[in-house]
Amino acid sequence: MKIENGELSIIHTPLEMQALSQNWQKGLSIGFVPTMGFLHEGHLSLVQESNRMCDVTVVSIFVNPSQFGANEDLSSYPRNLERDLQLLSKHKVDYVFIPKAEDIYPPTYRTWVNVTGISEVLCGASRPGHFTGVATVVLKLVNIVKPGLMFMGEKDYQQVTVLKAMLKDLNVPTTIIPCPIMREADGLAMSSRNTYLKGEARQQALCLYKAILMAKQLYREGIRDTNMLCEAASEIIKTNKGEIDYIEFVDPETLAHVGYAEADTRMILAVKVGVTRLIDNSLIQ
Ligand code: AMP
Repeated sequence: MKIENGELSIIHTPLEMQALSQNWQKGLSIGFVPTMGFLHEGHLSLVQESNRMCDVTVVSIFVNPSQFGANEDLSSYPRNLERDLQLLSKHKVDYVFIPKAEDIYPPTYRTWVNVTGISEVLCGASRPGHFTGVATVVLKLVNIVKPGLMFMGEKDYQQVTVLKAMLKDLNVPTTIIPCPIMREADGLAMSSRNTYLKGEARQQALCLYKAILMAKQLYREGIRDTNMLCEAASEIIKTNKGEIDYIEFVDPETLAHVGYAEADTRMILAVKVGVTRLIDNSLIQ
């Protein structure tokens, strides 16, 4: 059933979404922005890029239960659908797909997409099963929305890498367009989870960006040994009372550890600030 909400068309069922996409596919290019809602400028930058490059933009809002671990924040994940819809209508999105969990994962559900290797390192090591949940839901959404282009943030660098591999391996005719990380004025990478940062945690959360800036400065000064870069970054995190999950310097495609930093090396890190786990990354150059 298609529900008209001002200028936005809200679609709830996979079948209806699929029928619309099948029609559009005959002559229009479809851009897709999958999200978990609680939208911010980072999400909206993806929408803008999709509007620029495609005839039709579909945004999905779905807090995907299968990518949350048992002790993670599925039940408390921030939600504000009314505000999200207002923002999307301001940004000229025509179609918002908001499926119900039981339509994505009916009781008989049994198929999971497992991208080996690159899903098991970094965030995959700390959050076992996370990328299986992500790859599965994104493949399902892509099969429903049928986009030529899918817009995703480099904020979730490993996610983009895993999903690119999945689409390639499974011959899915959708191309990911990675978009730059949007940051607050002080450098904090925008994230729906930033709403958890209360009191001094908001200031402490800057340690990820400060650690990145420090490593980049040392790189500019000629330091290439990633152990040294890592040590300097760790120092900043600890001074700001962050709890390091990982700080890594990796090959941009394989996500394999590199000992010697080069211009295309990615610095990637996950840090717990109070109760909130934050991620960030950057080219080292
Ligand atoms: P989420 O709602 O957190 O699942 O994110 C939906 C999409 O928005 C993903 O492709 C994210 O990488 C992207 N995204 C989240 N935060 C940012 C940001 N700060 N800058 C750019 N893209 C972002």
